[in-house]
Amino acid sequence: MIDLHVHTWRCRHAEGTPEEYVRVAARRGVSTLCFTEHLPMAPSLMERIPGVEGYAMPLDELPAYVGEVREAAALGASLGVEVLLGIEIDAVPEARRHAASLLEAHPFDLVLASIHFIDDWAFDDPRKTAEYDRWDFGELWERYFADLVDAARSGLADVMAHADLVKKFCKRPESPVGHMYAATAGALREAGVAVEVNTAGLRKPCKELYPGQEFLAELHRAGVPVTIGSDAHAPDEVALGAREAVEALRAAGYSSALVFRGRVPEEVGIDEL
Ligand SMILES: [Zn+2]
Ligand SMILES: [Zn+2]
Repeated sequence: MIDLHVHTWRCRHAEGTPEEYVRVAARRGVSTLCFTEHLPMAPSLMERIPGVEGYAMPLDELPAYVGEVREAAALGASLGVEVLLGIEIDAVPEARRHAASLLEAHPFDLVLASIHFIDDWAFDDPRKTAEYDRWDFGELWERYFADLVDAARSGLADVMAHADLVKKFCKRPESPVGHMYAATAGALREAGVAVEVNTAGLRKPCKELYPGQEFLAELHRAGVPVTIGSDAHAPDEVALGAREAVEALRAAGYSSALVFRGRVPEEVGIDEL
């Protein structure tokens, strides 16, 4: 089992230390665990958007995060868990320069990119769902996937996280969305990124993996490689849904997933996942 997306208390909306995560991972038979804390927010977003300080670790804690994951890696080695140092970045255009400079400063194994904002709206924040009423869901989805593709093309990240997060609260367009999945999959392939199968969606109102089965099949058809992550925000969520993720990959036609070390991908056969 591998889990390439977990958070810690440092982002202020998750709980648990790296050490606690590693101990749970060892108990559950996770062979590779990658910490992917939310990268400190771009200063301009911090100034403008209320509540943003609760979305990511503070800037001055990034070195401590890196140090803690290193210590957890030593513990992991003694418990049979490979521990990797990753990060999840907000890939909206305004945040990219800030992200690039922080990425350069630390030896990350894996960089996840996410779209959590449409303009200044944190559309995945359960406290901000009233804003959905102002949108035509078809237009919202078009906009979301366009932003996702644009972020992939920025070249900052290895993997696009929770690639259909826009479905989180089941605010789906009435008309079919298959063409959006196909176009997005093709563009992500061209951009050279992977996509994660993120099991957190199973625990959210949409109650399905990110990406869902139809989108995952399009990604496979387009030749986009995948990783697997729980997006755990507490130690007890490590590797949750990993079996469902592997089954979904099989059903979509995948025979392997990727692990990134030093930002270099390596394939793992589906039977070893
Ligand atoms: Zn989070
Ligand atoms: Zn995220």
